[in-house]
Amino acid sequence: MPEYQVLIAGAGPTGLVMANILGSFGIATLLVEANASTVSEPRAVSIDDESLRTMQYLGLIDKVRAQIVPGYGSYYHSAAGACFARVLPDIMDYGFPRRSAFRQPLLEAQLREGLGRFPCVHTRFRTRVTHLRDAGDSVSIDLRSDEGVLETVRARYVAACDGARSGIREALKIPMGGSTYEQRWLIVDLAGSTDRFRHTRVYCDPARPALALPGPHGTRRYEFMLQPGESPEDLLVESRVRSLMARHSAEDAGLEITRKVVYQFHARIAARWRAGNIFLAGDAAHLTPPFAGQGMNSGVRDAHNLAWKLALALRGELGEGVLDTYESERKPHAWSLIQMAVTMGRVMMPVSAIYAFATQWGLRALSLYPPARDYVMQMKYKPKPRFDDGLIVHGVGAQLCGRMFPQPMVETEDSRLVPLDEMLGGGFSMVELEEPGVVPQALGAARLPVRRVRVIGRDERFVADAAVLAGAVRVRDASGALERALRASGVRAVVLRPDRYVAAGIALAAGPQEADRALEAIVRLSERKPAVAGPPAAAELVVTPWQAGRS
Ligand SMILES: Cc1cc2nc3c(=O)[nH]c(=O)nc-3n(C[C@H](O)[C@H](O)[C@H](O)COP(=O)(O)OP(=O)(O)OC[C@H]3O[C@@H](n4cnc5c(N)ncnc54)[C@H](O)[C@@H]3O)c2cc1C
Repeated sequence: MPEYQVLIAGAGPTGLVMANILGSFGIATLLVEANASTVSEPRAVSIDDESLRTMQYLGLIDKVRAQIVPGYGSYYHSAAGACFARVLPDIMDYGFPRRSAFRQPLLEAQLREGLGRFPCVHTRFRTRVTHLRDAGDSVSIDLRSDEGVLETVRARYVAACDGARSGIREALKIPMGGSTYEQRWLIVDLAGSTDRFRHTRVYCDPARPALALPGPHGTRRYEFMLQPGESPEDLLVESRVRSLMARHSAEDAGLEITRKVVYQFHARIAARWRAGNIFLAGDAAHLTPPFAGQGMNSGVRDAHNLAWKLALALRGELGEGVLDTYESERKPHAWSLIQMAVTMGRVMMPVSAIYAFATQWGLRALSLYPPARDYVMQMKYKPKPRFDDGLIVHGVGAQLCGRMFPQPMVETEDSRLVPLDEMLGGGFSMVELEEPGVVPQALGAARLPVRRVRVIGRDERFVADAAVLAGAVRVRDASGALERALRASGVRAVVLRPDRYVAAGIALAAGPQEADRALEAIVRLSERKPAVAGPPAAAELVVTPWQAGRS
C-alpha cells in the first residue's frame, strides 16, 4: 500500500497552499482532487496582506504579484448615489497592501504549478476520496478515479480541504455551528471593462444592495442581493441582469458576461476542526459571507498554520501536541472574521430606508473625528492576526507574543533592500538587536533548528569587527521599524514561527541563555498532551460525493 505522511483531500486554494508548504519541508504528500483541474470559474476576487505574505513564503510572490491589482479600497454609496464612507487602507504592516484584486483561477493554477518544485508531493486529479479508516497511528484512505480505478493508500495524517460541502466533515458527523444567517446573491462576472475607477463601489440601497468590484485584466464583478421571495431563475435572465447593472453603469450593462450565478452565503463554523488524525481546513471548517472578502484568505491562514506544524511534528522537531494548537489558534480568529463580514453586511444591506439613513449618517458623523475616520479608512476594524492560546510562551513581550510580526524593509550586508521575510528562511527564526557590548544569545541546546537574524540600528553601518556568529545573517533596520517594535514591547529579540507569528520574546535585560530557555519552552509546549484528545473515528467513514466536487 503506498504510504504518505500527509494526504490532502481537495485542491482548492487551501489544499494547494498546504501542499506547497509540506513540499518545502520535504514531507511525502498526496494531494487528491475530484475535478479534472483547478477551478476555472471566477470565485474569490480579493486577496489580503496576510495571504500575500504566505505567497511570499511559498516563493511564488513574484508570479502572483504579476497577476493582481495591488491595493484597492471601497467607496460606500447611499441609495441616492452619495458616497458616505471610504475605506482606503494604505498601511502595509506585513509588507503588502491590505486588499488586492486577484483571480482565483490564476492563483490556483500558479499554486498547482508551484508543486512541480517538490518531488515529494504527488497529485491525483479526477480522483475522489471515498472512504477513510483512522487506525490511531495512521489513516487508510480509499480513492476512486473517474475511470473507476480503485486504490487504497495510507497516510499518517489527513487534511480535509474539501470545501463548503465537505464530505469528510459530514462523515465525521462534525456539526456546523454559528448563525442561521443565509443570503442569496446574484454574481455577475464581466470582461472587457475600460472603467478607470480602481476601487470597489458598494451600493447600500435597501431596495437592491449591490457591489461593483474591479478585477485584473479588464474583468469586473457585480453582486446583487436577492430579496426574500425572489427566484434565482428570474434574476438570471440576461435582460434582467443587464437592467440591474444599467442602474449603476451604462458601460457595464453592455459588457460581455462571462458568468452569472446565484450563490447562497452562510456564516458558520465547524464545531471541531480535528478528529483523531483528520483535520478540517478552509471552507470545510468555516463559511464566511463574502462581504469582507475573507473566505479564501481564512483558508490560506488555516493552511499556513497547520502545514508547518504537521511538517515539524513529522520531522520530530516538535512534539505532536503542537497539532492541537491548530484549532485553538485558528478557530477564534476565523470566527471573528465571519462576524466582521456579517457586520459589514449590515451596512451593505440596510433592512429599511430608516436603518440605511441612520447607519449612513452615523458613518458620515464618525468621519469628522480623525481617529474614527482612520479606523474605518485603514480597515482597523479587521481582527488582527493574533491568538491568545496556542504555541506561544507567555510572559515576556506580551505586546508581540501571539501576533504576526511586522515585515519592514531591511538592508543586507551586500547593500540590497529586501523585505524582512526574505532573510528568515522557512523554519523558526530569531530576530535580535545587535548591540556593542551585549553578549549574543546562545542557541543550540534545544532540538529546534533556528535561523538567527541580527539587526543593526538604522543609524549604524556594518563593521568588520562586530560579533559575527556562525550561521547568523545580519541586516540593517532600514526604517527603524524593527527596533521600535522590539523596544516598545521591552524585548531584545523575538522567536518567530514559520508563519511569522511571535512565539516568544527575550527581555532587553535577559542573560545570554534566555533564548535557549525560550526554545526549550516552545518544544515543551508542543509536547503537552491535549486536555481532550480528538478521538479517532471508530468506524469506516464513507465520504458521500456532492455533485462531483466543487462546493
Ligand atoms: C461568489 C464568491 C465570492 C467570493 N469572494 C471571495 C473573496 O473576495 N475573497 C476570499 O477570500 N474568498 C472569497 N470567496 C470564498 C472562496 O472562494 C472560498 O472560501 C475558497 O474557494 C475556499 O477554498 P477551499 O480550498 O477551502 O475550498 P474549495 O475552493 O471549495 O476547494 C475544495 C476542493 O475539494 C474538492 N473535493 C471535494 N470533495 C472531495 C473528495 N471527496 N475528494 C477529492 N476532492 C474533493 C472539490 O472538488 C474542490 O476542488 C468567495 C466565494 C464565492 C462563492
